[in-house]
Amino acid sequence: MRGVGGLVFRRWWFVRLLSAPPDEPGRRLPERERRELVLREWEVLRERLARIAAERVTAAGELFRAAELRLPAEASASGAESPADSAARTAYLWALEAYEAAGRLLDQADDPHTDLPDLAAAVVLAEQAVERLAAAHTLYAGARPAPLAVRCFYNPLHGPAVPAAAPDRPGKKQRQRPTRGAREAAADRRPACRSCRRAILAGETPDVLPALLPAKAAGRRTGPVLVPYYTVPQQWSPWSATACGAYDPDAPALVLRGAHHRHPPH
Ligand SMILES: [Zn+2]
Repeated sequence: MRGVGGLVFRRWWFVRLLSAPPDEPGRRLPERERRELVLREWEVLRERLARIAAERVTAAGELFRAAELRLPAEASASGAESPADSAARTAYLWALEAYEAAGRLLDQADDPHTDLPDLAAAVVLAEQAVERLAAAHTLYAGARPAPLAVRCFYNPLHGPAVPAAAPDRPGKKQRQRPTRGAREAAADRRPACRSCRRAILAGETPDVLPALLPAKAAGRRTGPVLVPYYTVPQQWSPWSATACGAYDPDAPALVLRGAHHRHPPH
């Protein structure tokens, strides 16, 4: 489950290298070729991500069938539900909704407006559905579940975020520094997985999840382009600010009422 994003997207930066800046005209590809290359690359990434999303949704569906939570009927007039049962019910219903929303996003995989972050959201919601299903069982058993994993902001398909002040290598002692450098500050700005955090600390670009900015949105002379998904304006993508839904408990409801259909002009 972890590290999938790296396998899927590592070679994406290749595309950016091909669109060399104007001060290097010798390396610049003809505009039509560049556009075709970007769209082809996007199509490949979209197909791979749709396959991963399908796997996650199928796996979640199997788990829901195998581990259905048989809650007593909703609190009757005679007595209120115990807090544990009520918490388990809330978690279970959220998990079901997240699973349904993931399936909905996957059903729209072939829609021409479906971008990589929509499919990443399907992966995120399917995985969170499984996490929350486990939490519902734990709550129903009267125990306290672990908090949900915080996902990597730069690429929500990555492993979980590491705590901001975590040492880079296990066992390495933290040094107290009176002032933090700009890179440390940048690395602490957003939740990042170990590999993205390491890249930021090294002044490199993390392995981000790309999104397609169509020609009209990017400007006719430069578009279409692949950009980090979180740089897409929020009015065009509900996923930009929420790590593809990972940080928004209302993400399943948003998808189920169709409110995630916001896209840049094509
Ligand atoms: Zn990451």
